[in-house]
Amino acid sequence: MKEGIHPKYHETTVHCACGNTFVTGSTKDEIRIEICSECHPFFTGTAKQTERGGRAEKFKEKYGLK
Ligand SMILES: [Zn+2]
Repeated sequence: MKEGIHPKYHETTVHCACGNTFVTGSTKDEIRIEICSECHPFFTGTAKQTERGGRAEKFKEKYGLK
């Protein structure tokens, strides 16, 4: 009968600040985040902490987001 009242839960592309994208389920058409499993220190591993400036940092420099 009536459509558009309830947001549809569908596959949504998530865009991360590091340039990574992945698909998840959401009612939104598009999601933009600053941290994902590809660039979050927790996921990239503590062993890389000595290496300052990861992929996200290079991304910021490239696009002047600092
Ligand atoms: Zn990311």
